[in-house]
Amino acid sequence: MKILNFGSLNIDYVYRVDHFVRKGETISSRSLQVFSGGKGLNQSIALGRAGVPVFHAGCIGEDGRFLLEQLKEAGAEPRYVSVLSDMRTGNAIIQNDSSGDNCIILYGGANRAVGKQQIDLVLKDFSKGDWLLLQNETSCLNELIEAGHEKGMVIVLNPSPMDEVIRTVNLQHVDWFLLNEIEAAQLTGLPENQCGKELLIQALQQEFPSSKILLTLGEEGSCCAADGQVLNQPAYPVKAVDTTAAGDTFTGYFLSEVLRGGSVKYALDIASQAAAIAVSRRGAAPSIPWRDEIPGIKL
Ligand code: ADP
Repeated sequence: MKILNFGSLNIDYVYRVDHFVRKGETISSRSLQVFSGGKGLNQSIALGRAGVPVFHAGCIGEDGRFLLEQLKEAGAEPRYVSVLSDMRTGNAIIQNDSSGDNCIILYGGANRAVGKQQIDLVLKDFSKGDWLLLQNETSCLNELIEAGHEKGMVIVLNPSPMDEVIRTVNLQHVDWFLLNEIEAAQLTGLPENQCGKELLIQALQQEFPSSKILLTLGEEGSCCAADGQVLNQPAYPVKAVDTTAAGDTFTGYFLSEVLRGGSVKYALDIASQAAAIAVSRRGAAPSIPWRDEIPGIKL
């Protein structure tokens, strides 16, 4: 059983500023830091560090070659990432102010060049029962779902960002939804931050009766509806330093433990431990723990 993550790869340019740039203004930044980013890449790093030989597919430009090295260092296999000579890697321009707030400009770049030809070529190497992990940061999400479904792959979707693309996609072919509270509310049309997890889970189950649902709730933990039962997992209390990549870490570790044959209950517990560690550290990819850092690992 193999797992393929067909997802985004980004370069994050983080500028430290005294205040966010205003209309017509030019300001100097105190520093510039360059990081790897993108939900796709973060989730592959989490899977790789969790010890799962994940294959990553997607598109970058020449400027993103260092991302391939980062995937390899984490134990993820980047052979299905296409390097396009005429495009820039997807990127984010992030302004960070002294109070820790940020504002972000996202540019999809090569992530938007994922097309049917690449999908067909990559999926040739996968078969029934293999897992396909997807987010909504590349082009051709519907084609990916359809192609994976046709192959009989297990389709896991993290519908993030929740935008109009999601409404045009055949979500009934999704086997697992991994999403946070806000995404769940937007997907079901329920008001954000106003209804409890029970209502969200109920609405998701009603809309997607054949899918399994994993809802993450920040420091409130997570809740999973699968195989006729609903399991609640509290978060591990930690001093939250930076919650970036908490969900991606959770996704990687949850899937790694399920793929190893662990129960959903066990996978939820390990994913919560891993996400709590990520939350207690700064950064996105650098904050994702390695398998031997998770105290409760048994498999
Ligand atoms: P996302 O990053 O996708 O918005 P969440 O914020 O729901 O996802 O976080 C995913 C998981 O990370 C949670 O289910 C929880 O286990 C863990 N987590 C998030 N925030 C905290 C926190 N402040 N303390 C401990 N664990 C946390």
